[in-house]
Amino acid sequence: MTAPGSCAGDRLAGDVAETHGIGPKRSEILRARNIITFADALLHLPRRYLDLRQRDHVANLRPGDFAVVEGELEKVTGRPMRRMRWRSMTTAVLKDARGDRMQVTWFNLRGEGRMPTGVPLLLSGSVSAGRGGKAELVHPEVYRLDGGAPPPIRPIYGLPPEVSQRVFASIVALAFARLGNQDDPSAIPSELREDLRLMSVRAGLRYLHQPPGDADVARLETGETAAHEALALDEMFAFQLALARERALVQRRSGAMLDDDARFSSALISRLPFALTGAQRRAIEEIGADLARPSQMNRLLIGDVGSGKTVVALWAALRAADSGWQTAVMAPTELLAEQHFESFNRLCAPLGVTGAMLTAKVTGAERSRLLRGLARGEIAVVFGTHALIQRGVRLHRLGLAVIDEQHRFGVFDRARLIGLGSQANVLLMTATPIPRSLALTLFRNLEVSVLDEMPPGRTPVATTISPESRIGEVDALVRAEVEQGRRAYYVVPVIDDQDANSVAARARLLSEGALRGFRIGTLHGRMQAAAKEHVMREFRDGALDVLVATTVVEVGIDVPEATIIVVVAAERYGLAQLHQLRGRVGRGANPSRCCLVVSPGSSAQAMARLDLLARNPGGAEVAQADLALRGPGDLLGTRQSGTLPLRFARFIRSADLIERAGDMAEEWLRRDPELASPASANARVAISRMLDWGFSLGDVG
Ligand code: ADP
Ligand code: MG
Repeated sequence: MTAPGSCAGDRLAGDVAETHGIGPKRSEILRARNIITFADALLHLPRRYLDLRQRDHVANLRPGDFAVVEGELEKVTGRPMRRMRWRSMTTAVLKDARGDRMQVTWFNLRGEGRMPTGVPLLLSGSVSAGRGGKAELVHPEVYRLDGGAPPPIRPIYGLPPEVSQRVFASIVALAFARLGNQDDPSAIPSELREDLRLMSVRAGLRYLHQPPGDADVARLETGETAAHEALALDEMFAFQLALARERALVQRRSGAMLDDDARFSSALISRLPFALTGAQRRAIEEIGADLARPSQMNRLLIGDVGSGKTVVALWAALRAADSGWQTAVMAPTELLAEQHFESFNRLCAPLGVTGAMLTAKVTGAERSRLLRGLARGEIAVVFGTHALIQRGVRLHRLGLAVIDEQHRFGVFDRARLIGLGSQANVLLMTATPIPRSLALTLFRNLEVSVLDEMPPGRTPVATTISPESRIGEVDALVRAEVEQGRRAYYVVPVIDDQDANSVAARARLLSEGALRGFRIGTLHGRMQAAAKEHVMREFRDGALDVLVATTVVEVGIDVPEATIIVVVAAERYGLAQLHQLRGRVGRGANPSRCCLVVSPGSSAQAMARLDLLARNPGGAEVAQADLALRGPGDLLGTRQSGTLPLRFARFIRSADLIERAGDMAEEWLRRDPELASPASANARVAISRMLDWGFSLGDVG
């Protein structure tokens, strides 16, 4: 799918505010959700689908249901409301085919709410508990059945409350009208598409926004239709085209080549207080070979939390220092940067290698001194956060850029760090359990090392699954741990205070109940970075016993005293993400535990996934199993993929699709190497959209 600027894209470039009924207020609200143009609206796929061929009976409805009821309205009354959020309220009684009745309510109905009585209607909407707890239909949509059938399957979009489904559907309809019948926004050129008999993007989008009567609602919702695949393939084609185009550029760049002198790096190995694991030795060998070559290293180091990536990175830094090159190590938080710097001070500084740390906290004269040391090359290894890529930071001779938790950085950030030296080798590190094979398929330009072996002496984390009804027993386990001076995490899915699954609600519940008397902190993504760091620090230092958090705790802090993590509503997460959460514990000598708490009504498939996690301790196995079970979509399509400019990756069910897209990209470049022909117009736009997103091959992750 292309953005504005292409032939087809031009017509979709208009602002959705042009739609009748979208005022400045609502277009502002949509803009905040990144729905600005008609193209954006088409890319906003429905979240659910409602089968309007189904009928529910009034007698069976329960609050919380989403219902489709056929019947007639009786007794429609409207009245204005003063001093309320709503200007008016319209109520009616709905009588279904069996003669059962329920209350219906609308707010602020336009046209004074002239709801027809005595006419066959179809009402669809959510059911809530009205007076006396009786089921009531709230603000349903109404279709007249005397004037022809409604569309058989109705898309339901995730929308802010101010924008109704009906209004959004009219934006989408207008977008299709603008697109017309000829233009197709596919990045895959039509001649290639026709050779391969692929569905066009236009056809795919139409299928998903306005499904035909024979579509399978379940598959529409799980993203398993040919239309989903067409969108994913088209996007992956553009991605692979971008990779292939830029690969040539990177290969022309030379990297800092290191000579044979290995003073510091071999001293590090001989002085380590432990023996390297086989996997660490392998990674070090691979990196060493890269660094000895004249071309730039571009390597991804994948390893579970606790697998010992830091030592590998420190070795690489010393290997650079051996030949007089500087290394910059960038981490996403001050705590992580500090952790690296502490390891450096313990293991490397005694060898006479100079190191420093640059964060936002370093200011004034100290900062000036540090910047001078970097610019003159007096500091061999510098650790830091985003502060490393702020203005004024210059390195004399950067030979190696290490980026920890690389998916946490935007591509421009990574590029800026690498750009601090013209010959910088690149080592990306991640704990995201992405199988090596998938990483290689996706990034044909990247080398991959895997730490698939844990240092000895770790007890694997015992993983158990409990239904929500037994969370009391889980809380008791937590209490037993904190009573012994250990620490615990709770991970909940919601920030919003109103929800029972929220950070605040859970913290309150625990502090008034099972964990009364213990110090409980909260952490979530909407907090300021400084506040987040403050809470993490308190937890690390033992000023807090329990941390109730959203998945922001996922990334890498080492708290060896934390021995138990409880994940509430575990069925909502991907396996890879759960595995990373589990990695928050099991970092010390005491045995640790991960309790997955599942909500009632979780699907059998979700349970099978959790079971798989419980049976597999290692990230590599989890990733492999996840790949086999769900396909690459789960790994690439969630926020794990960080800044990958892939919107539809979650629909990729097989790595073959990625392979195929890569082959198609190569094939197309043989036909049109410069992408200069008119047939490549959409592809050019799609690539530039990816670059806009911030993607560039020199620094992919
Ligand atoms: P991560 O891969 O999560 O970044 P770290 O590099 O922080 O892991 O290592 C976790 C801990 O394991 C550190 O305390 C480190 O000193 C220790 N460690 C690393 N390698 C080994 C090893 N081969 N044997 C024993 N302990 C090790
Ligand atoms: Mg680490």
